[in-house]
Amino acid sequence: MKLCDRYVSRRQFLETAGIAVAACAVCRDILATESADATLHEADFYEKLAGGSVRCRLCPWQCTVPDGKRGRCRVRENRSGKYYSLVWGRPCLTHNDPIEKKPFFHVYPGTRAFSIATVGCNIECKFCQNWDISQASPEDVSAPFKSPEEIVRLALAQKVKTIAYTYSEPVVFTEYILDCAKAAKEAGLGNVIVSNGFLNEKPLKEWCSVATAIKIDFKGFSQKFYEETCAGQLQPVLDTLKRLAGSGVWFEIVVLIIPPLNDDLDEIKRMTAWIVKDLGPNVPLHFTRFHPDYKLRNLPPTPINTLIKARQIAMDQGCNFVYVGNMPGVEGENTYCPKCKAAVVKRYGMGVLSNDLKNGKCPGCGTAIPGVWV
Ligand code: SF4
Repeated sequence: MKLCDRYVSRRQFLETAGIAVAACAVCRDILATESADATLHEADFYEKLAGGSVRCRLCPWQCTVPDGKRGRCRVRENRSGKYYSLVWGRPCLTHNDPIEKKPFFHVYPGTRAFSIATVGCNIECKFCQNWDISQASPEDVSAPFKSPEEIVRLALAQKVKTIAYTYSEPVVFTEYILDCAKAAKEAGLGNVIVSNGFLNEKPLKEWCSVATAIKIDFKGFSQKFYEETCAGQLQPVLDTLKRLAGSGVWFEIVVLIIPPLNDDLDEIKRMTAWIVKDLGPNVPLHFTRFHPDYKLRNLPPTPINTLIKARQIAMDQGCNFVYVGNMPGVEGENTYCPKCKAAVVKRYGMGVLSNDLKNGKCPGCGTAIPGVWV
């Protein structure tokens, strides 16, 4: 912008012109755009290509992005050959939740998680309950700047145990997670990540270096379902789950059962057999109830019997901790000792009714119950 004989920024122009910017919506928009630019954050996990393009290495799509364009997730942009996260420091949602809502059942039961999300996702599930932010672009949703230190301050003020990166898809705001999580750890807070697991090995390792626990939404056990219902791919998620099993970081799995799309009992049998064989019998597995949403409003909620059968199949295959979610009042909400079968943590919905664990062990027979308890 030219003022007299010199070029000035939009902010300088407005200040020089003496315009009452605080009262003017147009000026506020201009300044907001400028301050968004000021907080642009160079992305991790990309490489520069010839001709000004970049290749994103964050998730398995590995988007090749020409100058001036964005990746498939809409929140990462090539500007003159440099790749930027458009959502670093831009949470569109913050909320204080019970950790059971994520759900984590073996991580600090009965505590709260300060939960944050930015817009964006790298897949598109037709049943997404947060589609208004996961399928949005940064321009679509208000997201005032919050530094990682501000996030930690807010979390501490609310006396939570952890910060949860959740709601939309944390993969696409990885750089922000890593910075918030490091600050959170220094302040004595834990970090939990709720993800679709559709990310590459290197960023997953970075997550593991800061995460207390990771929850993976395992959409189903068929490439067809991933492709047709989620615009995703199965194999990279299987790879992530196997990497997590070898990482030492606590993780839990959620499977949302959506009749008639992924409720085939033989498929659930094969999936749970794979979990036991490749991930181990102690990974908590949550079967949760579908509620009609987004592009699948035509389908009915999951019948309770389907969830109960799925749970039984998983236990028959050798899974030690199988839960039923979005269905308060059923037996599958409690944690049972795999040896003496005592109910060691009792729950109702997202609330913990009682936690009898003694130093992570069954109070009756002394069996260690795996998890992050204190
Ligand atoms: S994170 Fe986004 S830009 Fe990067 S590869 Fe995945 S979809 Fe593409």
